[in-house]
Amino acid sequence: MSDQLPACPECSEEYTYESGALFVCPMCGHEWSPAIADEADTALSGAVIRDAVGNVLTDGDTVTVVKDLKVKGAGGTIKVGTKVTDIRLLEDGVDGHDIDARVPGFGNMQLKSSVVKKA
Ligand SMILES: [Zn+2]
Repeated sequence: MSDQLPACPECSEEYTYESGALFVCPMCGHEWSPAIADEADTALSGAVIRDAVGNVLTDGDTVTVVKDLKVKGAGGTIKVGTKVTDIRLLEDGVDGHDIDARVPGFGNMQLKSSVVKKA
């Protein structure tokens, strides 16, 4: 037995075996789906994204920028107070950029949730 199956979540015995798509514990008869073991990961990827003051952001929200942002390559600055409508949250934004939005005058950009406030 080289396969490392998880211990029974009910009685903690380690005699788990697989039965089709389920894990089964012969000690207490408990059956469970292996997918449950991944629940923590799922919760992580669904983590909430909050603005600069802690409001939870959702797709379609309107936010305002809370500080001047230099835009690399565009040679401009997004001014504090700029209103950005219809934001899209990014689950795995690069380098903390977890919002995708169309910024007036700049077009589609990725922003950090820490520099915006829910309008
Ligand atoms: Zn058990």
